[in-house]
Amino acid sequence: MDNLLQRVKEIDIRQVARDLGFEIIQSRRMNCPFHFEDSPSLIFYPPPQNEFHCFGCGKHGDVINLYADTCKIDFKTALEELASRYIPNYDGVRNKNFRKVDIKSIYSNKPLPEKKFEFKPIYTEIYERFQTFCLSQPATESARKAAEYLRGRGIDDWTIKHFRLFVIKNYVATNEFLKEHFSLEDLKGSGIVNDKGNLVFFVHPIIIPYYQDGRIIYLQGRSIGNPPEGASKYQFLSGVPRTIFNIDGIKKLRPNSEVYLTEGAFDCMTLVKNGMPAVSLGSAKTFKKEWFKYFKKYKVWISFDNDEAGINGTKTIIEDFLMAGILAEKKDWNKGFKDINEYFGQR
Ligand SMILES: [Zn+2]
Repeated sequence: MDNLLQRVKEIDIRQVARDLGFEIIQSRRMNCPFHFEDSPSLIFYPPPQNEFHCFGCGKHGDVINLYADTCKIDFKTALEELASRYIPNYDGVRNKNFRKVDIKSIYSNKPLPEKKFEFKPIYTEIYERFQTFCLSQPATESARKAAEYLRGRGIDDWTIKHFRLFVIKNYVATNEFLKEHFSLEDLKGSGIVNDKGNLVFFVHPIIIPYYQDGRIIYLQGRSIGNPPEGASKYQFLSGVPRTIFNIDGIKKLRPNSEVYLTEGAFDCMTLVKNGMPAVSLGSAKTFKKEWFKYFKKYKVWISFDNDEAGINGTKTIIEDFLMAGILAEKKDWNKGFKDINEYFGQR
């Protein structure tokens, strides 16, 4: 069964999108079916990453999530239907017709365009009260496991303190605390709760705060170890566009300084701990134009994971940087290491 899940996850997400009836532009983007928009902001990450991310509404997932959510069916049904259609010797039920999405209804039933996301100061207050509350809670089994997991990833006490990482020790109590202190409208606007009004970090109790000028402007959750089936390792705020992690860490460097750009936030933390100024894209490999300004004065070392997706992402991003007039180059740590943590962990 695990094997089937893996094989289905490897079905080219762009092929499935096309078969569903979506139009893919420049072989990597399309209009997002999950929010109203005029210009396509849903990006595909081709295999092996094989995921999508919408920079408009923040929706993110793999091929099964895409199929399930556009067809409005559950994960298991989506898995079976995809297997039935694309896995040659799948021995489950093989009578399902592949669904097509009624594209017209998706794009025309949308009423007025949604308002563009606008950051409100109250969101920072929500994120910071959330952090203070979590830090003030007594230790729990979940907190102990999180600490153990972080240590295993080479995230030591200095790093935890420096980046002010924290853990949701009690999901229910935290959820209640937020609702007691803030309006549901503000909580939803901040992306910290979902449409049902529940804290989005249900299986992602390790929280990585993103700061700008010392204030929290974004949050990212991480599961302890591998996430449960169907969930991803990271949970981002709902509907809030992502931003760069540790941007404060490179703001005051001298011109021509060398800075590192990583995929994962943990990689970034490891570099900083080892004396190298670094920022991270949270887990993505794509870059928004408005971020170039942070890098104008510097030389950028791209330090993505040493897998196929990371290597492809590196090529694209280096071209983008060079087009923006910023010197960027791939950093080869040491051949044979999967990522930065492994490199520093084993050195
Ligand atoms: Zn979207």
